[in-house]
Amino acid sequence: MIKELIKFEDVRFCYNDVCAVHDVTFIIPDGGLTALVGPNGGGKSTLIKLLSGFLKPDHGKVEVINYAAIGYVSQGFGFDSSFPITVKEAILSGTLENKIKLFKRYSSDQIKKAENAMAMVGLENFGSRGVSQLSGGQLRRVVIARALASDADILVLDEPDSNLDMESTKELYSLLNELKKVKTIVVASHHINYLLDVADTAIYVKKTVWGYANPHELKEKLNEGIVL
Ligand code: ADP
Ligand code: MG
Repeated sequence: MIKELIKFEDVRFCYNDVCAVHDVTFIIPDGGLTALVGPNGGGKSTLIKLLSGFLKPDHGKVEVINYAAIGYVSQGFGFDSSFPITVKEAILSGTLENKIKLFKRYSSDQIKKAENAMAMVGLENFGSRGVSQLSGGQLRRVVIARALASDADILVLDEPDSNLDMESTKELYSLLNELKKVKTIVVASHHINYLLDVADTAIYVKKTVWGYANPHELKEKLNEGIVL
């Protein structure tokens, strides 16, 4: 039986008079990687913000079971990547509720969490490098590590593949494939192909949601031109 981690029940959210999503009922299972796929403007970011608690539904409810902590990784980098800060400082800031504080003293516990997170994303040798000297793929790993350093149980990533070249995209998804063994991961993307062999569950989002346990099955339906 699937254990539920996040539950959407009959959710609607409107930006003033534009209703981005409506009649949304689905669950995010505990463990593995759940993909939210669908066209631009379909409502993926809105669902991500609802499940991360940044938006509140106009109708229905979003329930996070057992108060699981969520690490939200936005589509951008969440900080100015030209900022004079090192990889380690950027990741350490994840232990501070996402506030970057220069020259702050960190506890040994916070340093350990940051170092663990750096190792989890393969940046253990990049701690003293300035974030402005990183490639797009490395920068993406920094923001993932920062979310990991915050002790999140669930990693929520909005279009993590945007603006990455093919090689970095492959690396990103193989990293997420590893991380899903220890964290629950939710990824929004409009590239279903990247997610076929990584996602355990694919949910199609276009104003409302369509559940598919298997991303390959969903892709077949879309290829056959079945309008969801
Ligand atoms: P996706 O992430 O799938 O591209 P979004 O959740 O960003 O979709 O957007 C869903 C719909 O909500 C779109 O029609 C979009 O124009 C609208 N929308 C998103 N953000 C805002 C906003 N801040 N104000 C008004 N409309 C918005
Ligand atoms: Mg979006």
